[in-house]
Amino acid sequence: MGSKRKDYISWDEYFMGVAILSGKRSKDPNTQVGCCIVSQDNKILSMGYNGLPTGCSDDEFPWAREGENPLETKYVYTVHSELNAILNYRGGSLEGAKLYVSLFPCNECAKAIIQSGIKEVIYDSNKYEGTPSVQASMKMFDAAGVRYYQYHRTGRKIEVEL
Ligand SMILES: [Zn+2]
Repeated sequence: MGSKRKDYISWDEYFMGVAILSGKRSKDPNTQVGCCIVSQDNKILSMGYNGLPTGCSDDEFPWAREGENPLETKYVYTVHSELNAILNYRGGSLEGAKLYVSLFPCNECAKAIIQSGIKEVIYDSNKYEGTPSVQASMKMFDAAGVRYYQYHRTGRKIEVEL
């Protein structure tokens, strides 16, 4: 009797892998963040990455982080990966879903996560830990009963030829 493969990837590796792969679609020269929303029974519901709203050209809008005029920076235009994934979902409710994201959510995305009914956030990097934005996210998640924990990296390398 043949037995099953032993080296298949775990659910966490799978969904964080999808989140990171989604981030590779981003046109932002400095920050690529990806997100994957999953149901309680491990079905992928939606994905997203940081980018401009539909109809706003990647070539015409600015990607700069600094500028005398805020209208010449990316911040006023870009949609974060978590919000994109929430808004991309067309299936109804995200109540009780899990959200995998390659960077800890900012306070604006935290609001959208809470309001959409997502109950669990699994993040990879938390490089802005300690900033007011991340502190606000944690405070709101705690109050709203959204669990969050850092993804445990396994060190597994996956190569995909495309
Ligand atoms: Zn955000």
